Amino acid sequence: ISFSDLALCEPIQRAITETGYTVPTPIQAQAIPQVLAGGDLMAAAQTGTGKTAGFTLPILHILAEEHAHNIKPGRPRCLILTPTRELAAQVEESVQTYGKHLPLTSMVMFGGVAINPQITRLKKKIDILVATPGRLLDHCTQKTIDLSGVEILVLDEADRMLDMGFIRDIKKILALLPKKRQNLLFSATFSDEIKALADGLLHQPGFVEV
Ligand code: AMP
Repeated sequence: ISFSDLALCEPIQRAITETGYTVPTPIQAQAIPQVLAGGDLMAAAQTGTGKTAGFTLPILHILAEEHAHNIKPGRPRCLILTPTRELAAQVEESVQTYGKHLPLTSMVMFGGVAINPQITRLKKKIDILVATPGRLLDHCTQKTIDLSGVEILVLDEADRMLDMGFIRDIKKILALLPKKRQNLLFSATFSDEIKALADGLLHQPGFVEV
């Protein structure tokens, strides 16, 4: 299987080629068609498997192809939650790299830094928001962000988010999202706690394991 078999649009294919990737990793080969098909997904993948491109590439394709309606500043169409600021920054960098030939915008948001520059950024268009849960909730409380336009949700490294005690924050965030949306859950391990989260979150999910 090659990237050209994956039905990703030309601007994304070009970015992949420029990045130097030649073939999709196993998780990418399995996850990309399932995400493009629009269903929910539960993926068991360690870091280093290429999981980030496994979800960012098809998300960029979906958002670029779809007729965007009701675009407002500070109202993202895709929300990617990560456990740490380092991972959030890394994921947003991947979004930038793979999306560099697309007219899509992204923002990374995490705690431990000043909130005002984030509030300023939120006054502009954001297609893809990559965030850690605590700071995102701060913005929700201050009403500086509007999550009512989220069409795709990703929980990246969900097991680490639970280990770090983010479950309550995650549940509060989930309650602010529209009911009709696509959900992707990535986790290295599958404890009972993760399975319970997945049960409540995912609808007839596909499964990917590498
Ligand atoms: P990740 O598991 O998402 O953290 O990715 C691990 C590393 O693999 C990153 O440095 C990516 O740039 C790289 N990578 C992702 N997909 C591919 C691919 N198809 N071919 C070669 N390297 C890749």
